[in-house]
Formats: sequence, structure tokens, C-alpha cells
Amino acid sequence: MAAPRTGGCLCGRIRYESAGEPVFSLQCHCRDCQRQSGTAYVAAVRMPAAGFRITQGEPKRYVSRSDAGNEIARVFCGACGAPLYVQVSTRPDLVGIRASSFDDPSWFRPDADIFVKSAQPWDHMDPAIPKYDTYPPGRAY
Ligand SMILES: [Zn+2]
Ligand SMILES: [Zn+2]
Repeated sequence: MAAPRTGGCLCGRIRYESAGEPVFSLQCHCRDCQRQSGTAYVAAVRMPAAGFRITQGEPKRYVSRSDAGNEIARVFCGACGAPLYVQVSTRPDLVGIRASSFDDPSWFRPDADIFVKSAQPWDHMDPAIPKYDTYPPGRAY
């Protein structure tokens, strides 16, 4: 079995490891992701929650509602503010980890652009990646 991927926040207080393989890799262009990231979209990868653990520090959570009306917890470092992952009440088996919070994010390959209905006109998207107005069928949070 491959070694767990490791990652953490900007200041280094929070560290995590994530074992297993990506379930779904996405670029989300919804307004919540735009606001939280301060830019055009969020690149994230849904990984098995069973293989995920915080190995150092105690992150903070901000809980709101997803577009589908489910409770979504955005987990971040309280010291540096770096976003780490999201967890949705209806899918405790998954964590949606921010691609660039991994120590090596270079392996990330988006399966889809989602919530493109909210994308900004200055957001340049790769035409080769499948696009969905909201969630792809069967992938709703
Ligand atoms: Zn930090
Ligand atoms: Zn989003």
C-alpha cells in the first residue's frame, strides 16, 4: 500500500495525513468557495475519511449550509487561516481536502469543474475538463 499523503496549513501548526486513493477530484466555482478562497475557485479532492487523520494541532471549523442544504464544516487553521478540508454531514465517509494543502499537490488531476453557473467571467477554465452547472449527477453534497 502506498504511504499516506501528508499536508498541512501555511504556518505549520496543523498537520494531517490522508491514506487511500482520491474518490473525486474537483474544481468548485460556487460563490462560497470563491469567498472563502478569495479567488475564482477551489481545487479539492474527496478522500476516504477512514484514511484521514490530523497528526498535529487542532484546527477550527466554520459550519454553514451547502447548496444542497446540508451542513458543511469548513476546517482551517485558526492561526494562519489556511483552509484544509471540508466535511459534509450527509457524507461522513468523505473528506474534501484542499488540493494545495498537500505537501505535494502536483498529482492533482481535476475530474470536473462544478458550479460553473457561478463562475466569474475572468475565471479561465480548461475546456478539456467536464463542466457541470452544479453537482455532477450522483456527486451532490
Ligand atoms: Zn496555520
Ligand atoms: Zn464550492
